[in-house]
Amino acid sequence: MKPVAKVAKPAAIAVLRQATALAPKRKKASDGLLPSSAHIKQNPNSDHNTGLAVDLTHDPKNGIDCKEIFQALKKDKRVKYLIFNGRIWQRGVGEKVYSGSNPHRSHLHISILDNHGDDVSPWFTWLVKETKKKPVKKAPVKKPVKKKKKAAVKTNKITKVKKKSILLSLFKKGKK
Ligand SMILES: [Zn+2]
Repeated sequence: MKPVAKVAKPAAIAVLRQATALAPKRKKASDGLLPSSAHIKQNPNSDHNTGLAVDLTHDPKNGIDCKEIFQALKKDKRVKYLIFNGRIWQRGVGEKVYSGSNPHRSHLHISILDNHGDDVSPWFTWLVKETKKKPVKKAPVKKPVKKKKKAAVKTNKITKVKKKSILLSLFKKGKK
């Protein structure tokens, strides 16, 4: 049995904190860092025992879609393995069916590599980009700009057509 840590590693804590910062309304019913005593008995070699694992509640309605996160975090160098919805992905092994007793439908399990336990850099980089885009979309200045752009496109088209007909006529003249 692995010795049980008293506090979770910063990288594991950062997953839950950053998820809440990005999706403040997200549900946390299946969130978890350190194991309960029942969990330790059931799974004595779990990464939760070392503080290098985190469970994130699946709540797509409120912005935490573990299906999407499962796929995206395969690219994160800190990840040792991921379990969600009956699937497991392990670094260096790939994705396959997860045959453990808990199929992990309510949460995503993330195990973090020993040497990345203190790395608290952003976990959900693609979600950060999405939330930054939103206020720009709401800017009221855009509508008149769009109309101007369309008008400009139209005149461009006209001049293009004119140029084409001039060229054609020149070409025809040349032929004669
Ligand atoms: Zn877990």
